[in-house]
Amino acid sequence: MSDRFLEHRTALVTGSTSGIGLAIACGLAAAGAKIAVNGLGTPEQIDDALRAVREAGAADARHFGADLRDPEQIETMMAQIAEWSAVDILVNNAGIQHAVPLADMPTQKWNDILAINLSAAFHTMRLAMPGMAERGYGRVINIASVHGLVASVNKAPYVASKFGIVGLSKVAGLEYAALGSRESGGITVNCICPGWVETALIEPQIQARRDGGSREDGVRALVSEKQPSGRMSLPEDIAAMATWLCRRESHNITGASFPIDGGWTAQ
Ligand code: NAD
Repeated sequence: MSDRFLEHRTALVTGSTSGIGLAIACGLAAAGAKIAVNGLGTPEQIDDALRAVREAGAADARHFGADLRDPEQIETMMAQIAEWSAVDILVNNAGIQHAVPLADMPTQKWNDILAINLSAAFHTMRLAMPGMAERGYGRVINIASVHGLVASVNKAPYVASKFGIVGLSKVAGLEYAALGSRESGGITVNCICPGWVETALIEPQIQARRDGGSREDGVRALVSEKQPSGRMSLPEDIAAMATWLCRRESHNITGASFPIDGGWTAQ
């Protein structure tokens, strides 16, 4: 899909300084959107992300810093973005992970994971969606996980946050379902639920399974546990799905959760 069907649209992608978020920002940029980049990183990492998004074809791109653990910073960021351009596409992608048994989970990790993976999406949605309703077009794409559909051990706050965002997306999808039209594209809210994707987020889990072997041994061990395809997705694979959901003809796809998991949740 190389047409520039998102020219004159603006997208905010949270956590787009690396990984899946950066790939989604580049995918939407290639379709012609203006991109609000958000995420942590050194000034060099942020510059690299902005350069990648511009080279992909963004009509314009800026970084809006906010630590998504803090609702006040989110409000300030959303006001700054609104002054720059109205948000048509909101991708709540930022997320963190910490894998230890429930009884060993530090309380601060629970709070941070719920704040970034779930509450931040509530705040960006409550601030961005009324404007989408006024304009008759809007897309909210929440990057959940297979862990929004099934559980695994040692991931209590992560699984709780991802099940939470699947539920939040259904409610918002229902509340906005009748707004807009087939011609304007409507307002839709969906989740993408990836299995394993090659990014920095899962590196500690790969390393934990090396068992003295190579990184490839670690990848093989990790993927073979649950993902029947035996291969990881690339961030670009997730971006392709997100970009497609922004098309006008996706106007009737809402409140849904799409696994991209090599069969993990089919079992
Ligand atoms: P990543 O670590 O490469 O990227 C995470 C992004 O979130 C970064 O841009 C980071 O700066 C940002 N971020 C983290 N804490 C933040 C904070 N406090 N404030 C603002 N930004 C913050 O990870 P990724 O693998 O690209 O993950 C992206 C999303 O995909 C996450 O929600 C994750 O749960 C989900 N996911 C990933 C996988 C996978 O296998 N990699 C699988 C399923 C779901």
